[in-house]
Amino acid sequence: MSDAETLFEKIIAREIPAEIVHETENTLAFRDIQPQARVHVLVVPKKRYRNLAEFAAADPHGLAEVVATAAKVAELEGITTSGYRVVFNTEGDAGQTVFHVHAHVLGGEQLGHFGT
Ligand code: C5P
Repeated sequence: MSDAETLFEKIIAREIPAEIVHETENTLAFRDIQPQARVHVLVVPKKRYRNLAEFAAADPHGLAEVVATAAKVAELEGITTSGYRVVFNTEGDAGQTVFHVHAHVLGGEQLGHFGT
């Protein structure tokens, strides 16, 4: 387990601080420490799965709760109308660095196009 994985679990356990923006029974949303947009929030399931594939296979209802929490975060951040992006980086080519599945909620400004 990497240090970053340990940090996510410690954030969920409130053992280290994070700027938490929303919480549900099974999810936690907190600001990314290195924001890539004016709004950059991570939504994580409290139970750890390695990536989107493992999460979707094991707990599709939990995945739906994470996606619904992402939409709620956008509402709380005031970007529902202006627009936002929800991203699950998954494994190496996508640049996943923390192997505790998480959705990035990005917005608050014009976002760049996808690409390499
Ligand atoms: O999708 P990926 O795995 O690359 O995203 C991990 C994200 O977790 C990064 O955007 C990084 O800034 C963030 N992070 C964080 N707090 C930590 C460790 C990583 O917000 N303690």
